[in-house]
Amino acid sequence: MPLASVYPLVTTRALARPFTYEVPDGVGPGAHVEIRFGGTRRRGVVVSLVDEAPPGVEATPVVRVLEQLPPALVELALWVADYYGSTPGRALALVASHVRSRRFERPGPGEREGLVGEAQPPRLSATQEAALAAIGAALDGPGGRTFLLAGATGSGKTEVYLQACATVLARGRGAIVLVPEIALTPQAVGRFRARFGERVAVLHSALSEAERRDERERIADGRAPVVVGARSAVFAPVRNLCLLCVDEEHDASYKQDSDPRYDARSVAAKRAVLEGAVAVYGSATPRPESWERLERLELGGRLSGALPPVRVVDLRREAGYPLSAPLLAELGAIAEGGGKAILLLNRRGVAPALHCRACGLTLRCESCDVALVLHGDGVLRCHHCGFSEPAPELCPACSSPELARLGAGTQRLERELAARLPELERVRLDADTTARPGGVAAALAHFARTDRAVLLGTQMVAKGHHFPGVSLAAVVDADGGLGMPDFRAEERTFQLVTQLAGRSGRDAPGRVLVQTFQPDSRAIRFAARHDVAGFLAGELERRRELGYPPFRHLVRILVSGPEPAAPARALTELRDRLGEDELLGPAPLLRLRGRHRAQLVGKTSEPRRLAARAGELLAAAAPAMRKAGLRVVVDVDPQSL
Ligand SMILES: [Zn+2]
Ligand SMILES: [Zn+2]
Repeated sequence: MPLASVYPLVTTRALARPFTYEVPDGVGPGAHVEIRFGGTRRRGVVVSLVDEAPPGVEATPVVRVLEQLPPALVELALWVADYYGSTPGRALALVASHVRSRRFERPGPGEREGLVGEAQPPRLSATQEAALAAIGAALDGPGGRTFLLAGATGSGKTEVYLQACATVLARGRGAIVLVPEIALTPQAVGRFRARFGERVAVLHSALSEAERRDERERIADGRAPVVVGARSAVFAPVRNLCLLCVDEEHDASYKQDSDPRYDARSVAAKRAVLEGAVAVYGSATPRPESWERLERLELGGRLSGALPPVRVVDLRREAGYPLSAPLLAELGAIAEGGGKAILLLNRRGVAPALHCRACGLTLRCESCDVALVLHGDGVLRCHHCGFSEPAPELCPACSSPELARLGAGTQRLERELAARLPELERVRLDADTTARPGGVAAALAHFARTDRAVLLGTQMVAKGHHFPGVSLAAVVDADGGLGMPDFRAEERTFQLVTQLAGRSGRDAPGRVLVQTFQPDSRAIRFAARHDVAGFLAGELERRRELGYPPFRHLVRILVSGPEPAAPARALTELRDRLGEDELLGPAPLLRLRGRHRAQLVGKTSEPRRLAARAGELLAAAAPAMRKAGLRVVVDVDPQSL
């Protein structure tokens, strides 16, 4: 029997190497197999055939072959393992499905909702035509091309994805469409199902194990050549893949925050190269990285008219936060004349902090160094670790009853709205809503069918929902993100304000209000003018000077441990040994779940080399670090610092 190199799908770093097994004739790279490994049965993936086993190794046969993965996917997984400093076993687990059982007939998740077909619009705009022509020409070429599809919300990006997919289907080939957080964007998925019916498979985290297996089987056998899904759908086993679309490409959820810490946008570009496919990244607020690096297809403004005017409310002059007089006036007009409003406040709870007026104490989480947030049920909660305790009547330090609530959260906003404008129906959308199964869908459906309604919530309300009749969109507090010590703080604020503005007036004259204490900040000035190109030009200038992406890559090394000084000490040692690149830190970070943390950030043009070198040094120090209770995370191309 032939011999093969097999990576077992295990997470242990010490076992991150291939093992030799006998495989049946005809089995080659990409075979997903069951093996006997360390006294138990495991799954594994064949990466190559070999002539002979290493000396002293007696190769045993694989138990059985489960499925054949496209060899390009195996290559893609090995690239992910290498680039993001993970292990082949962990990365291959992203592309190998769980063991399949015999399928029994039942409607797939694509069929259950019974959407009626949506007709193609009779005519495309000139810019849509031009974009489709460019994508079509690239599909005929050698592949590996990447485009940025830039255009305001409502400029018709989804129709471009739909027609590009139709072209691909007509050629008997396959496509993947990535969308951020499917639960929040059911409408985007609905449009694909409505156009392509059962030829669409949908992959997202809310599917049951059986549903996921069924969808993967429909993808692998070619019944569903179009896959719509969140981040991990970039690894879907689509046959003859020739198009990858990444919708809302600026969304931070494309980056996975556990090992392997891959970025689905970079993985899509790599997969396009490996399979000769074309990648299209779409956004109304592209990342500076994409604006600078990708070939642009610009759709321009909205199909249905101008973007709504944005009024900036200077909170230094207007009293009444969270509901200033101009905002109340706009909401009052809706209460009288009908319509809908969306209010964004990027904090949950009633008050972000409880503060003692007598002694100055702010109530903090004992293990996270952040203020505890007061919720409507009278409980203080830590939004980092989940710790909770009843809010005290008296200051725990000085026993004064003068505990003041600082700032406002979504629950307080909801209460103030109820008090000031009781005739408006309130629908709240935040992490407290998503914690209930079906909570998001119920909240969105309720908002869609109610007149004189306000959808209020955290950044979720700014994402992809299209509701007819939204005449007002308001950012209650645009400053929240600007104070963050992160080089992306301005980019994020600009994106949030611009995206929210796009939610208003898609079919009616809309109004946008932005409340801020910093009306002169760059992010808010440019967002108020819908000036995406202007903002990005300034942002790129700043990043060029500071050596931030896209001009250099970042590698973030984070160490946490039980002792206050140990993480920074370990990182100082690491920095002295790494030496060569531009290394920032170590800088202390807020404590999290009782662990002290520090980080070192490297700016480099060779992220793989820096991550690999750090990985070697850390592996050598692993026994001592383990003894000291230290844990380390290496993150290549982190999305926040
Ligand atoms: Zn006090
Ligand atoms: Zn905490």
